[in-house]
Amino acid sequence: MLRSVAALTRLPSSLPSLGRPDNLPPASLAAAAEALTSARLHRYQHDDPAASRVAQLEVAFAALARRRYCCAVNSCGSAMFLALRALEVPQGAPVLVNAHTLTPVPSAIVHAGARPVLVEADAMGLADLGDLETKMKSSGAAFLLLSHMRGRVCDMDEVVRLCGEHGVLLIEDCAHALGSTWAGRPCGEFGAVAVFSCQTNKLINGGEGGLLVTDMEEVAARTILMSGSYGHWVTFHPLLPPRELMDSLHDTTPNFSMRMSELTAAVVTPQLAMLDAKVAKLNRVYRQLEAGIGEIDGVSVPPRLSKEGLVGSSLQFELGAELAGLSEATCQEFLDEMQVRGVKVAWFGRGQWLGFTSTFRHWQYIEGGEALPKTEQMQRFLIDVPLYHTLTWNRSTSDRVCDVIKAALSKVFGSTTTQ
Ligand SMILES: *Cc1c(COP(=O)(O)O)cnc(C)c1O
Repeated sequence: MLRSVAALTRLPSSLPSLGRPDNLPPASLAAAAEALTSARLHRYQHDDPAASRVAQLEVAFAALARRRYCCAVNSCGSAMFLALRALEVPQGAPVLVNAHTLTPVPSAIVHAGARPVLVEADAMGLADLGDLETKMKSSGAAFLLLSHMRGRVCDMDEVVRLCGEHGVLLIEDCAHALGSTWAGRPCGEFGAVAVFSCQTNKLINGGEGGLLVTDMEEVAARTILMSGSYGHWVTFHPLLPPRELMDSLHDTTPNFSMRMSELTAAVVTPQLAMLDAKVAKLNRVYRQLEAGIGEIDGVSVPPRLSKEGLVGSSLQFELGAELAGLSEATCQEFLDEMQVRGVKVAWFGRGQWLGFTSTFRHWQYIEGGEALPKTEQMQRFLIDVPLYHTLTWNRSTSDRVCDVIKAALSKVFGSTTTQ
């Protein structure tokens, strides 16, 4: 019975499923087993606070991110919400956010009681800095939640300059940008606050999980309290602002129960040491695939800025206007033809949301949404290939993915392609 179900769901080609998570390292399995055996799965349950795996993760991650404070929570969405609340964003206040991102990002702004103001994307999928400056002036926003979407990094010198000039506080959404750099500086070091994700489809796999880092004492204090520490439990946090500050904020700060579980931290922490090796492998895969796609007529990989330090955890390519009969319908056919050949990819500009791909047009919970023609144009035929799980990738995988792209192009668009 089981066998026949497996046979039915097997991909027609022997290509690895691109979205399959890598195996977890033995150290994660061992730490998780230890946590389960101890049954102390709540971070504040240990007799010795230093024994908490969440506490250990916070210390390790703060060092990695080169920030003073780190608070681990249950998702990056929660971390964004807490960042906005800890920065005391007023109710109803405008918060700038780049429109080429995922729905949890503007949703976190709504969750915090503020109002997302969407900023256009440029042709590379980066925040359009001209539109950003225009909207800094017109919206009067005092906050920018900048998503390094798919690990693509925009000109951070310019973002920091614009924020300074217009009195805007920067929060970096590094959910998909762990390890990415700008001019040698890690993403997450530019903003007043930065947040990271440990959701399975990101660079470190904790199932779910979020990490907030900052150097600001009061922001750290509020985040720790709001994340779900009570009373003396704040002393279980290894990176704790002065106790007088914690005490002075305690009674006026709500507790939103967004703690990270010990089990998550057990799985995540050992993966931090593997990050450099993983990024090196991802980048080899990215460059192989980018070169391969570069040889195919009718598709192209949008360039990246030269000061960006790459983390090739996903690759985007777009279908070119020169493809005969290119439309939403034929783009869907192209994706179907790829899937039939064993390569499942996502499409940012899809008219109907599917999985994580939804465009700003689907975020009708945002009031006063205006037209964003540049973002729409950029996303229209933009395809996303997940690479973050690289266990089974090698050069021949890249070649075969390119063969699948060529075959699907040829089938749907005919003679305009090289096949
Ligand atoms: C995944 C992702 C998020 C959401 O992270 P969660 O941990 O799932 O809440 C936010 N922003 C970006 C850019 C992401 O890729």
